[in-house]
Amino acid sequence: MALVSISSATARLQGQVLQPQPKALETPLALQLVFARRGCSSLQQLCRNSNGNAHGSFKKVGRTNVFIHATLAGVIQQEENKSSKATLPCGETWSIHKFGGTCVGTYERIQNVAKIVVDDPSLRKVVVVSAMSKVTDMLYSMLEKAQSRRNDHVDALDLIFQKHKETATALLGEGDDLSKLLSNLEEDTHNLRAMLRAIYIAGHVTESFSDFVVGHGELWSAQMLAAAVRKRGLSCVWMDTREVLVVNPTSLNQVDPDFEASENKLLKWYTDHPADTIIATGFIASTSENVPTTLKRDGSDFSAAILGALFRAKNVTIWTDVDGVYSADPRKVQEAVVLESLSYQEAWELSYFGANVLHPRTTIPVMKYDIPVTIRNVFNISAPGTKICRFPATESGQNDSLSFRAADLLVKGFATIDNLALVNVEGTGMAGVPGTASDIFATVKEVGANVVMISQASSEHSVCFAVPEKEVMQVANALEKKFRVALEVGRLSRIEVVHDCCVLAAVGQRMASTPGVSATLFGALAKANINVRAIAQGCSEYNITVVVNQEDSVRALNAVHSRFYLSRTSLAVGIIGPGLIGGTLLEQLREQAATLKEDFKIDLRVLGIMGSRSMILNNLGLDLSQWRQQLAEKGENADLERFTTHMHSNHSIPNTVIVDCTANAEVAGKYYQWLKRGIHIVTPNKRANSGPLNRYLQLRELQRQSYTHYFYEATVGAGLPIISTLRGFLETGDKIQRIEGIFSGTLSYIFNNLSEGKTFSQIVSEAKAAGYTEPDPRDDLSGLDVARKVIILARESGLRLELDDIRVQSLVPEPLQACSSADEFMEKLSDYDHEISTKRDEANLAGEVLRYVGLVDVLGNTGSVELRRYPSTHPFAQLSGSDNIISFTTARYQKQPLIVRGPGAGADVTAGGVFSDMLRLASYLGAPS
Ligand code: ADP
Ligand code: ASP
Ligand code: MG
Repeated sequence: MALVSISSATARLQGQVLQPQPKALETPLALQLVFARRGCSSLQQLCRNSNGNAHGSFKKVGRTNVFIHATLAGVIQQEENKSSKATLPCGETWSIHKFGGTCVGTYERIQNVAKIVVDDPSLRKVVVVSAMSKVTDMLYSMLEKAQSRRNDHVDALDLIFQKHKETATALLGEGDDLSKLLSNLEEDTHNLRAMLRAIYIAGHVTESFSDFVVGHGELWSAQMLAAAVRKRGLSCVWMDTREVLVVNPTSLNQVDPDFEASENKLLKWYTDHPADTIIATGFIASTSENVPTTLKRDGSDFSAAILGALFRAKNVTIWTDVDGVYSADPRKVQEAVVLESLSYQEAWELSYFGANVLHPRTTIPVMKYDIPVTIRNVFNISAPGTKICRFPATESGQNDSLSFRAADLLVKGFATIDNLALVNVEGTGMAGVPGTASDIFATVKEVGANVVMISQASSEHSVCFAVPEKEVMQVANALEKKFRVALEVGRLSRIEVVHDCCVLAAVGQRMASTPGVSATLFGALAKANINVRAIAQGCSEYNITVVVNQEDSVRALNAVHSRFYLSRTSLAVGIIGPGLIGGTLLEQLREQAATLKEDFKIDLRVLGIMGSRSMILNNLGLDLSQWRQQLAEKGENADLERFTTHMHSNHSIPNTVIVDCTANAEVAGKYYQWLKRGIHIVTPNKRANSGPLNRYLQLRELQRQSYTHYFYEATVGAGLPIISTLRGFLETGDKIQRIEGIFSGTLSYIFNNLSEGKTFSQIVSEAKAAGYTEPDPRDDLSGLDVARKVIILARESGLRLELDDIRVQSLVPEPLQACSSADEFMEKLSDYDHEISTKRDEANLAGEVLRYVGLVDVLGNTGSVELRRYPSTHPFAQLSGSDNIISFTTARYQKQPLIVRGPGAGADVTAGGVFSDMLRLASYLGAPS
């Protein structure tokens, strides 16, 4: 068998060199395998090493010595004799380690790995190693260049050569080890150059040829690591796994190991190299025809698992650059946590659905022998890592410290596969017609596309599946062709492609036995305003898979992760209008943020602040002790559109709220658009709710249809619970009859003090001096602000009124409405004092007081703002300072209205009201109560 393969390799080699045709390019590889197996780097050496049993002659073709004829009978015989005596001490004495590309990315890192290998006290060990980081990518890109007939493929090869030469030199220093390594490297590079040239000429590369080329990264890193381990005093040999591992391709991106053939080859190999420490190449293998191949991208994990199974090892440790398997990709979910353990199934599902910390097929070979796999961090060896085994500690209950986890981890982890497209095949003619689904997938298979998930509606009217975006058009065209007749006669109604999708999977073994998991998952997505396009749940219930828009990928991941995992609600906050109220709110947020995070599991992160002229944006969270300075010094020009886009898309926090602390109508005009985009709104700005009725109704309608929230408690009575009290009545079925109150802190102050014998204008001056009024007191005295509050309450109670429908009794004397300045107004106000004084005196005589109130008469369908008289025993007569008071008369509170009273103006309490709306939002979004 071996003899045949060598002679045919020789024959093919002759063919290749003498008649350089790209088709025959695989031939030198087979010969190379023989070299490697015999520890030789050239045919001459092979003949020398074979005690003269190999015969042949060499001919110079260009710069290459070509072996023209050889029987090599002696070599083969020798090998076969050895294998018959082979013994391989399989079993628990073996430990398998696998080091990923980043672990061996520099010479220092290789040294570090060598130390870990030497320090491992196991009796025997196999160390599987990936190519240095980025090298496989570089090799692929070099091939691409050669194939596209780009001359710079030569530079790419030189770069790769240099990288390894420099690393090896720094690692080993001068000496025999280095010379041997460099000579192998030079020879390989020399061969690669010739091969690339042929690819360049042909303008094409075959898969097996490409596999051969890209496997060099592992060949070189394994040799370097072996030399480094030897340098530390531990004897070892390196294994070219193409000599041992036999795999058969099953699809474009997958190979199946042939364990029997691999075991036989391993026995032979071990007889030749009976070492206790073996440094093996990851990633590469051979087909059963002895053609070099790979285990496909990221396949070194799989190599380690296969070797683990072949050696029946005690354990497999996969060393990488993170502390273990995280509950979600730590690059996308900041809050992801390291999982202590996972079952084989869970690890498989997670990696299949995109957790690239592990090659999806890694668990398959090891689970047969119950070999645990531990993922560990080469840069943090004190971290215990994640153990993958049949019965993780959380489930067997062996580990008490994990009991908290055991109870909580219904879903262990989340992952996404990005850049997919959905294909939806729909039609009534599919129902009950056997074979439609198989026809569909047979067609997809012909195209060679990889189906990531499938979902079929139980009505059988549609089949929907996800394939990589780059393959979808080919799939759609093939389906159109296949089902042309069915489409024409209407048995199928359409073949639809939905572009720009991604799959999000939730994985956990305990999901099967626990009701409500999917409801929670969908709830979390809905609350983050993420549209689910398709759903699949396998019978195993180890995973639930949903398809969402690609642009929502990271946000969706964060939304479901925080919902299940952390029970922490994260909220991205954008604040518009950092004036008196906004500024105070930011101060309150700064003081409270840590407590909220720790004690209440609410993580509020301010990602944007926009003033009237400038704004500051950040996608991690602004430093709230510095914002004023930053806004002044580093602020960019205020731009509402950019601010919105930033708050909507430039971060991965699942929920966003914009807090509008302005009194601006333009900002309020954006609410509809924000809610539509899933941005929650909290505001003390009255403009939206007191603006045109139809706009208000649209907003409320949108709010009811979606999971997006709009809270505006602070629009009436600052922090007092007025809107929420009113809502409480409505929701519990009480009927509101009348709302009456003093809604203006300024006017409350003025009339509370009017009884003390002062004139109206004196008190207005005092109030202005104390900062209780607007800069122009007419803005308060006109009653417009109170009217806005009245209309808000009226609408909230179900009345369909416009602002103009509210009767407003202005306290600004008619002739003074035209005054050009506040000062002029103040000067002239005393001329009209008698109007109010007369009313006050009349009231006094009757034992009553004057109060400026807002009124909603729900039964009469009207609203008004007016000066009214109340008996001195009435609660409205008992007010002091600038307090607000509101009385609700309802069906249940008819005889004695329900009264809410307290400070209803001022930056502190208004900001407090806004803040508490933000926390209400957080609790609506899932924060614990
Ligand atoms: P190696 O080269 O060591 O094989 P990989 O890059 O293939 O390393 O895999 C490790 C990387 O996987 C990590 O750096 C991390 O960014 C990424 N990753 C994605 N999802 C997860 C996850 N759920 N847990 C841990 N790492 C993950
Ligand atoms: N070096 C190969 C790759 O980058 C295999 C691996 O690292 O697992 O795909
Ligand atoms: Mg990997």
